[in-house]
Amino acid sequence: MAGSRDDKVYITPTEIKTFFYCPRLLFFQLYLGKKMTLKRRIRAKLGSFYHAIKHITNILRGIEAEKDVTLELGRYVLKGRIDALEEGTDKILIHEYKSGSGPRRGAWLSDYMQALTYAFISIRNNSRGKNVIFKLHYRSKTLDFNIDSESVNLLLNAMSDIYIIKKHGVLPDPNPSPAKCSKCPYRDICQSLQPDEALSSWVKSLGSVIRPSHDRED
Ligand code: SF4
Repeated sequence: MAGSRDDKVYITPTEIKTFFYCPRLLFFQLYLGKKMTLKRRIRAKLGSFYHAIKHITNILRGIEAEKDVTLELGRYVLKGRIDALEEGTDKILIHEYKSGSGPRRGAWLSDYMQALTYAFISIRNNSRGKNVIFKLHYRSKTLDFNIDSESVNLLLNAMSDIYIIKKHGVLPDPNPSPAKCSKCPYRDICQSLQPDEALSSWVKSLGSVIRPSHDRED
């Protein structure tokens, strides 16, 4: 079984991100290995380079960078690495860097849920009572978010589904879209499993873009 020890299941914020992009893609990555097209490999290399520059810049500015974090929560262990963290007496800033430019307005839901997972780990570990803000830095814009109970519920639902995927190998429903599926390296096998795409995951109803809390009323 993928990513489990005893009754615990380890989940990374990157897996949360992939789950909200497409739960079935996460299943394929876990059980068939991560496949990447040449374009994706090049983008991953550029992304690593971009992160390395941000890492050095943050160290020079005295900001804690690449911080490993873990949270045990019942049958789950959330484990990941925060790009950068600034902690004050009453406030915590969590920085997540993305080498892409993001959607025209707001942030990709998958990126948002990844960064929210870091905020959730921080709050549960040592930041209760502090104002935790997580910042998504795209190439051309930065968006600030506060953690909210609705998003935490989404995270907990995703963790429950990932537990079932990892522990019991259950194939989740997909979150298909022409844009996603056209560049998915598992498209053939996915479509052979479910050619009519009749079922889709609960993630689909959430849409793919989220706006910052102060901007959602527009
Ligand atoms: S082909 Fe589409 S629905 Fe299937 S795993 Fe890939 S992205 Fe998800």
